[in-house]
Amino acid sequence: MRELRQRGIHDERVLAALAAVPRHLFFEPAFEAHAYQDKAFPIGEGQTISQPYTVAYQTQLLGVQPTDRVLEVGTGSGYQCAVLLRLTPHLDSIEFNEILFARTRQRLALLGANGAGLHCGDGSVGLPERAPFDGILVTAGAPGLPPALLRQLRVGGRLVIPVGGNHTQRMVRVTREGPETFVREEFEEFRFVPLRGASGWQTK
Ligand code: SAM
Repeated sequence: MRELRQRGIHDERVLAALAAVPRHLFFEPAFEAHAYQDKAFPIGEGQTISQPYTVAYQTQLLGVQPTDRVLEVGTGSGYQCAVLLRLTPHLDSIEFNEILFARTRQRLALLGANGAGLHCGDGSVGLPERAPFDGILVTAGAPGLPPALLRQLRVGGRLVIPVGGNHTQRMVRVTREGPETFVREEFEEFRFVPLRGASGWQTK
């Protein structure tokens, strides 16, 4: 946690949430020994578990309050999902890859971290049946801001999403300040796997 603080993570609730979730439980056995390095690692299906700094950074930007309704796009290993559940019980998470979805649903149930609504499908179009959200956090790199995600924000809600090319993206936070007013802020550069689906890079 000291390294995270040194790199600008100062939200005590976010630091406590990361400290409370043992990251090795979200790793494939072959990589478990590396769980406490600040790096991304493969989780199968060509996807990765984000590095702790990235999880902390996105979570801090989202500014989650305990009553907030939050959507995570890209469940992956379930690690970010377990961190977000420490901050609000009102969480939905959607994963595009059916194999990862099934594996992670089982893992979260075994860990007793099954408070989130887990969904399998294209999160680039959001989750209209559960909208509006106070926070939407996207954990894959998008070519642009998905219009459906903006529409599914409550006024006052925040969308945190990496936007850019296929290889590097800039972290963007969009706050819906009024029904038609969206304020965009830009932060550091990151490297994410590509967002798929209708508002992503590829449809498969
Ligand atoms: N949050 C994850 C974790 O803690 O392990 C990291 C996820 S990984 C960097 C990005 C995930 O987004 C992958 O599992 C990928 O399959 C998923 N993904 C990509 N496009 C998606 C989409 N359109 N809808 C939902 N999930 C998507």
